Amino acid sequence: MKLIFATNNQHKVEEIRHSIGQQFELLTLKEAGIDVDIPEPHDTIEANASEKSRTIYRMTDTNCFSEDTGLEVAALNGEPGVKSARYAGEDKAFDKNIDKLLHKLEGRDDTRARFKTVISLIIDGKETLFEGICNGRIIRERRGSKGFGYDPVFIPDGSDKTFGEMEMEEKDRFSHRAKATQKLVTFLNILDRKI
Ligand code: IMP
Repeated sequence: MKLIFATNNQHKVEEIRHSIGQQFELLTLKEAGIDVDIPEPHDTIEANASEKSRTIYRMTDTNCFSEDTGLEVAALNGEPGVKSARYAGEDKAFDKNIDKLLHKLEGRDDTRARFKTVISLIIDGKETLFEGICNGRIIRERRGSKGFGYDPVFIPDGSDKTFGEMEMEEKDRFSHRAKATQKLVTFLNILDRKI
């Protein structure tokens, strides 16, 4: 089965390709010859994921999926949440986003946080959503240079390493994206058997 993954984020492509393995043919937007920056105008992760996959399905008439992820910090009432990419500005700079987050958490004891990923899959025009959550906490100094985004300051429950200190295999054992992707793969496998 051929699927377009509606993202321009190379980190996400690598992580999802790693979790999905070789069983499905995955085309990135670039590989499908599509050059668009899909807007994320909505105030929920689900709605933004849907917007991305529906836009690409309309444009290509090809089965596709997208994903949207947010970091939700308990002491900040779920911020940055849906604004995770543009928390400190439209340039989506990882470093500035982390600086803003750490600044907002100054003086707070509760640093509990979670990543939430929603994948929106469209097969023959029908949409299905898959969710993956990873609970953990934010630390006040950056550790590690692997991964992307908030990885250097996020420690998942069950580990004492940040995502920034983990190889992809290790991050996969905990990660929101890997959990959502596993649900997607299970669904696609069932569909594949029915076709
Ligand atoms: P979006 O899903 O492209 O809107 O991404 C939201 C933002 O969340 C990204 O720009 C990253 O800063 C952050 N993010 C998404 N996934 C991860 C992750 O797995 N680790 C760390 N940060 C992430």
